[in-house]
Formats: sequence, structure tokens, C-alpha cells
Amino acid sequence: MIIVTRNGVTQEELDHIRERIEAEGLRTHVSRGEHRTVIGCIGDEERLEGLPLLSIPGVAEVHPVLKPYKLASREFSAAPTVVSVGRAQLGGEAVVVVAGPCSVEDLDMLRETARHVASRGARALRGGAFKPRTSPYSFRGLGEDGLKMLAEVRAETGLPVVTEVMDTRQVDLVASYADVLQIGARNMQNYSLLTEVGRVRRPVLLKRGMSATTADLLLAAEYVMSQGNPNVILCERGIRTFETATRNTFDLAAIPVLKRETHLPVLADPSHAGGRRDLVAPLSFAAVAAGADGLLVEVHPDPERAVSDGEQSLTFGEFDELMAGLAPFVAAAGRTLAKDATPPEASETSP
Ligand code: PEP
Ligand code: MN
Repeated sequence: MIIVTRNGVTQEELDHIRERIEAEGLRTHVSRGEHRTVIGCIGDEERLEGLPLLSIPGVAEVHPVLKPYKLASREFSAAPTVVSVGRAQLGGEAVVVVAGPCSVEDLDMLRETARHVASRGARALRGGAFKPRTSPYSFRGLGEDGLKMLAEVRAETGLPVVTEVMDTRQVDLVASYADVLQIGARNMQNYSLLTEVGRVRRPVLLKRGMSATTADLLLAAEYVMSQGNPNVILCERGIRTFETATRNTFDLAAIPVLKRETHLPVLADPSHAGGRRDLVAPLSFAAVAAGADGLLVEVHPDPERAVSDGEQSLTFGEFDELMAGLAPFVAAAGRTLAKDATPPEASETSP
């Protein structure tokens, strides 16, 4: 249930409306927009049926939320959610590029990649220390050593760090090093993990499962948010179809669909979507044109020798071309590219 308050509602009126709802055993969530304030009511809506809600002072409209996701739905928040990651703002006016290797391989390659992508305008560093691999015999990441390298490179470059957490037992460990906790496609419906990352204070980058609908993705976000963590960033990374020319099928339409359905920021991952480096730029351009708030891109100093996802990782030169080529698409979408000409200084807020 969503209650829209009248223009100029007073704080006393707001408090009173919330008290009336909470007395029925529901939780309330206030969202202040430029023009209106909405109160989301979470819980058993049937308990509100007998209440004359429209007669409570300050109430202008009452709407049931028919969607299964509530906190994540656009109706629930009057303004878009902007998630701060270091000095970058995801979901704001600027398009944000997050770049880095698929896996953290060693300190030198991580440092070199971070410095390069930062100098070209990336605002956060990606890199997996815990890697979900289809085969148990593939490289599965450096674990905590990899997290330490990410933290070291963050201290040197100021780039906030996005890295995957695969297991409920590792949430506190990964959260103690990372700025953003990535939930991978294979774990999008791991409800224990979603619940656990909902309890920590780090933003969560939630990747769409390869056979998940956009509604499934929003319900996964709802899990995280319902535990008290409002800072969820969604990511379209391609889904499984019958097509074999690409690693996955990039679901471009998911971007405007999600932007319409939710107030959360939406990123695109053109690297995993296409699985081929020649597709990264065109898919990035399309994603930005379709309204993506940012991109998650794999970059490696020597993709031929990458321990994971070399075929889809950009060289430094290709990353430069991507960043240069993005500009007109960003402008056409009415956005700007979040870009620092020089690497930002080490951020004070980092863990
Ligand atoms: C990744 O970002 O490296 C990754 C494993 O992605 P996904 O979960 O989308 O496959
Ligand atoms: Mn990868």
C-alpha cells in the first residue's frame, strides 16, 4: 500500500499517519520527492482495510501496490535511488563506468589495470577474488589475498572496489574489504545470500540470473532491501537463449523495462552478455542509449594470458576506444559521463 501525502504535509501529520499504520502491525517507509512525499506500507495490507485512511489529515491518495515487489517498485520511491560508491553516484545524472579484470590475478596486473582505467574515466574497479566457475578445475580466485590486493590498489588509486561474494559465510569478510558486494548471476536466487547481504551496510550489485525474468531480478532486490539495505544496483548481463553466436543474449529491452519498474540504478555488463571483446563497444553504446546508468566492463593488460574471461576482456587500447566512442551515446541519452581527468585521490570513506 502506498500513501501519497498532500503538498505541504507537516511533520506532525506524517508522524501521525505512520503511527496509525504501524499500530496495525505494518512497517512504514517514507520517501520524499521534490513534489510529493510517499509512505510505503509493508506488511499485511488486509489489516488496513477497516481504516478510513483518506480521512487522516495529510493523506491525499491511497494506492494498493499490485506488484509482488514493493520496496523495489517505482511507486514506492518518489525519486530515483542514487547509490554512492566512493565519489561516484550510480543512478544519478551521470553514466558511471566500472572496469577491471574478471579475476584478481596478482597485484601488478590489478594495479596496472586500475591506473589505466582510472586515467580514462572509470570511477570504480571491478575484480573477482572469489570466482564462480562452471568447472571446479578452473581458477577459482585468490580469496582473501585477492581482497587484500583490491584494498591496496584502492588505497593507491582512490577507486572504490566492486567484488563478488559467493557464500553466506564470506559476507562479513568480503564486506570488510569491498565497497560494493557483487552477487553473481549464478547466485541471484540464493535467498540465504541475499538475506545476508541485506544485513550489511555495503551497496549490493545484483546481477541478473541467466534464466531469470526481470520480475525475478526485482524480487531478488526486494530480498536485500527488505532486510534493511536500500542500496541495490541492478545489472543486466545477458540471458541464456538458443543463440550460440554469443555467450549469452544481451536483453537490451530489460534496461528500459527495469528503469520503468524500479527506482534502483540499472547497469549493463556488455562483457558477459556478448562474451566477445568485439561486441563490448556496440553493446555498451546500445545500453547507454537505452537508459543504462552505467557499465561493468572487463579489462586486462594482456587478455591472451588472462586466467578467466580473456576472450571478452578489452585491452587497454580497446578500453580507450570504448570510452572515446561512448561520448556521443551518452550525450544522445541526455546524460554526462562521470569522468575525472586524473585519478581521484584515495577516498576517506573506504573500509
Ligand atoms: C563476473 O562479473 O565476473 C561474473 C562472474 O559475472 P556473472 O555472475 O554475471 O556471470
Ligand atoms: Mn568474468
